[in-house]
Amino acid sequence: MDSITTSIFDIFKTGPGPSSSHTIGPMKAALLFQDAMTGLSPDTPGQSLEIDVHLFGSLSLTGKGHGTHKAILGGLLGWEPATCDCDLLYQLLEDPDKIYEIGFNTGTNKTGQIKFSSRHIHFEEGGTENLPFSNTMQLKLRQGNRLLLEKEYYSIGGGFIKCKGEQEEKKERPPHAYGNMNQLRKIMQKTGLTLSQVILENEQAITGKSEVQIHENLDKIIGAMCTSVEKGLSTGGILPGPIGLSRKAKVLLENSLKMKWETGSFMAKLNAYAMAASEENAAGQRVVTAPTSGSAGVIPGVIYLLKHQYHLSRKQLREGMLAAAAIAFIAKKNASISGAEVGCQGEVGVASSMAAAFMTYALEGPMRKVENAAEIALEHQLGMTCDPVGGYVQIPCIERNAVGAVTAANAYILAEAGDPARHKITFDEVVETMMKTGQDMCSRYKETSLGGLAVCCVSC
Ligand code: SF4
Repeated sequence: MDSITTSIFDIFKTGPGPSSSHTIGPMKAALLFQDAMTGLSPDTPGQSLEIDVHLFGSLSLTGKGHGTHKAILGGLLGWEPATCDCDLLYQLLEDPDKIYEIGFNTGTNKTGQIKFSSRHIHFEEGGTENLPFSNTMQLKLRQGNRLLLEKEYYSIGGGFIKCKGEQEEKKERPPHAYGNMNQLRKIMQKTGLTLSQVILENEQAITGKSEVQIHENLDKIIGAMCTSVEKGLSTGGILPGPIGLSRKAKVLLENSLKMKWETGSFMAKLNAYAMAASEENAAGQRVVTAPTSGSAGVIPGVIYLLKHQYHLSRKQLREGMLAAAAIAFIAKKNASISGAEVGCQGEVGVASSMAAAFMTYALEGPMRKVENAAEIALEHQLGMTCDPVGGYVQIPCIERNAVGAVTAANAYILAEAGDPARHKITFDEVVETMMKTGQDMCSRYKETSLGGLAVCCVSC
């Protein structure tokens, strides 16, 4: 089995909401295309250049609600997911007739200009039968009828991109090579290293970063997660889009402060924190993918609670993040973290599993209990479909993040009470089951908005 070479910061990265596969991934693809245009020399004077973008699969079916067209234009304009102005991004293409000028370096000290408007984005119907991934983007640069450049990109979930015909960048083989939980556990037994030490040493080898740099980056990511919770808690009103959905996080927090029932107050707070970050995502604001933007409320919700309610130390929070990353690595390698590939079990299900591992490890649970908590959380979200109403990451997504955070806390409680030696289902088995379930799942339930709540909820 190939070893895992994904970086922690490819899983946890900042970018505009509402969907890593439909927003961050397409923006990255457009940036790559812009880079590939460098040095091209159009040779018909006076004839303008145009870029056509063809979207397939759920990028076409739910791309408008997810802002895929805006993200692609943002990328063509050279905007980066981590730094772009989210409000400006949201405004792109709101006026369908507005013409944008895209610059590129022709290699002769001149900057070429390309005119681009909404008519250059083509939401294709069907056509995915012969494509290796349903979430496909084709970008074509042409001058009149002459095709100057064509690229095909695949958005494979969590903001990860593949380009047709291009090899993935070769990464350094990590010192602790593992491809699943069983192998990871054996490495820990053989070397005597803790889970966080294994993940840290691998990260150092893969990225060339020092332990201090990795810790600094983890602190920044935790900070960005907490910011998304705080922004969500301080914002009320209606979310963008035609559904007219009200934000609820602020009210939930206010209710939690009035509750006399301690457990109810705890639950209301956890719900409020997870929904706050998820509402920010739905509003197209900057969030941290964990592992995706659609599921970007689960781990921030758990972290915010543990940090502010139970005052976990910086070391405990960092270690929790490393445990959560390990779960995402294994799920991504052996199944998928894409709603378009396996449904919401791969997004909120995996996020909940990561959060359960985070909680158990940060609260100093042994490795077996970390694995069991992750397994329990994912097991009870197997088969969960992706059916966003209207193609917007709002219903059922926002509440689902809150439910995912509560499930993580419950999985921690259940794992704590169990005897690890008698636990019957391994994490690897549940990941394999998630993949098989995703393969069996009808495409209507994989981010296409053609089935489930997306069609039942006609009044939304
Ligand atoms: S239902 Fe789940 S996977 Fe689908 S868009 Fe919403 S959060 Fe993402």
